[in-house]
Amino acid sequence: MSENQTQSFIINRAATSKIENIDFENLPFGSVFTDHMLYCDYKSGEWGTPVIKPYEPLTMDPSSRVFHYGQAIFEGMKAYKDENDDVWLFRPDQNLTRFNKSAVRLAMPEIPEEVFIEGLKQLINIDKAWVKKGKGNSLYLRPFMIATGHGVIAAPSGQYRFMIILSPSKAYYQGDVKVLIAEHYSRAANGGIGAAKAAANYSAQFYPTLLANKQGYQQVIWTDDATHTKLEEAGTMNIFFRINDTLYTAPTSERILDGVTRKSIIDLAKRENITVEVRPVLVDEIIEASKNGSLKEIFGAGTAAVINPITGFSYQDTYYELPRQDNPMALDLKNKLTDIQYKLAEDTFGWTIKI
Ligand SMILES: *Cc1c(COP(=O)(O)O)cnc(C)c1O
Repeated sequence: MSENQTQSFIINRAATSKIENIDFENLPFGSVFTDHMLYCDYKSGEWGTPVIKPYEPLTMDPSSRVFHYGQAIFEGMKAYKDENDDVWLFRPDQNLTRFNKSAVRLAMPEIPEEVFIEGLKQLINIDKAWVKKGKGNSLYLRPFMIATGHGVIAAPSGQYRFMIILSPSKAYYQGDVKVLIAEHYSRAANGGIGAAKAAANYSAQFYPTLLANKQGYQQVIWTDDATHTKLEEAGTMNIFFRINDTLYTAPTSERILDGVTRKSIIDLAKRENITVEVRPVLVDEIIEASKNGSLKEIFGAGTAAVINPITGFSYQDTYYELPRQDNPMALDLKNKLTDIQYKLAEDTFGWTIKI
């Protein structure tokens, strides 16, 4: 698609809205969807016209490649409504860039900006009533792409479908999160697909997470696959450690997803004059810091929960409880970040985009 070609959309609106039947006070995360969805098909080497239509099931050939060879990638983003009823996106360019990186790694075609960004804007605009005001309320945005080409042939598909679906969500509270440090299983490996937001990375971690759940831990902290000595991610979130008043987080790599929340927290913390060190964080040093009392906080960072404080961790059958903080850095950073997202604080970074 050439740079200045404008993308036209086919828009087919739902005759009626489901919104009156939705209990917005009781929304299990990611299980209710809005009235419309977007799709755009790729074949013969090009993307077709994007279509916005009523949300409905797909009909697919059982031999579609996605079912057999797992070519599937996605993004997770949110839209927020401010006090003036304007709707905002948070750093959508970062999600587009990451989506296309994931596409390349899974041998899938890249999506043009006109389809991804303009598609989000058009779709959200049509379902704008589903974005509720008030801190904690948001519309969770799920762009994804699957291989739709037919045939159980172990090669990249020639046909793909890009889609966007939208799910209203409330603030995501998980309660106490105790985590288990991985000593055997891995989420990702050097040379693998850990840096892509690929569906397969999620299926790879379900089983070890279930084993951790059975032992009373909500999440697994993933370590590097080669030595299991470096702390890399917490479940499906990036991870931060506070030792005394310094924040530590691992550099992104082939094994670590380049989270938008992670990089925003790093920038925000620096603006607040918090020292942030981006370097490998070792299991040994965290245990040592826990024993000598300098380990103050551990938290996960990701779009769905924003920041998820961790209350303690287990390693080699020993449980290490984190001290309670009166003014946790995690909460302070979460408030500062969400204030920017909900337009309650000035966006000095230029991260928010009006729809
Ligand atoms: C999506 C994801 C994150 C968080 O990324 P955000 O852009 O902050 O939502 C972190 N780790 C993994 C493995 C992920 O899939």
